[in-house]
Amino acid sequence: MIYFQSLTRNDLITLLQPLSQIKRSSDMTPDQLEVKAHRQANYRAQQIFHWVYQRHVTEWDEMTDLSKDLRVWLKENIQIFRLSTRQSRQAMDGTHKFLWDLVDGKTIESVIIPSALQEPEQELGQEPEFQKEGNAFAGRPAKETVQSVRWKRLTACISSQVGCAMACKFCLTGIQGLDRHLAVHEIVTQVFELRKQAPITNIVFMGMGEPLHNFENVVKACEILIDQHGLNFSKRKVTISTSGIVPAIESLGKRVDVSLAVSLNGTTDEGRSLIMPVNKKWNIEKLLNACRNYPLGSHRRITFEYVMLQGLNDSLEDAQRLVGLIRGIPSKVNLIPFNEHSGSEFKRPSDQTVRIFQKYLLDRQVTATVRISRGRDILAACGQLRSVFGTARGTEKHLDWGSNQSAV
Ligand code: SF4
Repeated sequence: MIYFQSLTRNDLITLLQPLSQIKRSSDMTPDQLEVKAHRQANYRAQQIFHWVYQRHVTEWDEMTDLSKDLRVWLKENIQIFRLSTRQSRQAMDGTHKFLWDLVDGKTIESVIIPSALQEPEQELGQEPEFQKEGNAFAGRPAKETVQSVRWKRLTACISSQVGCAMACKFCLTGIQGLDRHLAVHEIVTQVFELRKQAPITNIVFMGMGEPLHNFENVVKACEILIDQHGLNFSKRKVTISTSGIVPAIESLGKRVDVSLAVSLNGTTDEGRSLIMPVNKKWNIEKLLNACRNYPLGSHRRITFEYVMLQGLNDSLEDAQRLVGLIRGIPSKVNLIPFNEHSGSEFKRPSDQTVRIFQKYLLDRQVTATVRISRGRDILAACGQLRSVFGTARGTEKHLDWGSNQSAV
């Protein structure tokens, strides 16, 4: 049985083409027959994509404009995959975290991150308006929370692996180690399920896993996400975030046109290698060269994510080096004050330190925003995702999923 969400439209056309019923007229050549069969298969594939991805229909029998024979064939050969929710939790700020069960008993997480109409990204220390209200959703029907018109943006942060092999020192998923790659249908279905909950506007591969370590599956998933007959996201609104697998960055630009974010987090090889082992293989120079060569469309920029760690990468010298390093790369910098969690060896810099760092960049015409962490009370903030049970190293440790024990 094939999972529907693992198929690009071209894959589906290839499967459907032999089923096409072309009325053969005597003067048709084999080539003409094939073209006609392809057209018919393409039309059917579009219809099916629309039923599933636009209308969220998950039963073949309900696709009433398909022939009965085709519906029977689909039922016998292709299964529409569903993820079942083990738990979902909503944070005070509206961030909504989902823990999904996979068929092999593993779990992964996705998060819906709302952005307020008035995004106060650069005002450190000031809570967004919706946070001042406490839990804006308490006592309200679930439907209201997800369909709310309060949000300018609803970003789906999705996972690409169970765990992660990159072992970034500041990241909870990195502590877990890699368990396995996600299949295409497991990636696409996270968005499919989340979009049934809320009108998702953006997708970021910033959940569990290093997306470029699972390259082929992530690329194929992106093709489905940006297919106008599929989930129909703008390529600008789908962002792959990498810790810096340089050969994969080079390949990505040739394979699929989506936005790129790079987790930089350091301005010297020595400092970056301390917190990101990937830097020992592909150092800052190699990484930034790959960024320089990344094919960006007009008016598009690479986002450099910069997790700020007290005393490690938050000095003015770091800010100074950062400006020099990214000079000439169409980019913006997203400063992410570290989200402390119990047992973490790192500390969050003071708001003042972050502000001074940001001002240094802004004064030198570097676009720099400060990300206000969302969902910290349910461990959904950046670097806080980790599946509920188990680690690649077999230390079966239960996390109190969604409690604020480990969050700051
Ligand atoms: S920050 Fe990303 S790449 Fe690094 S360990 Fe965590 S999930 Fe993996």
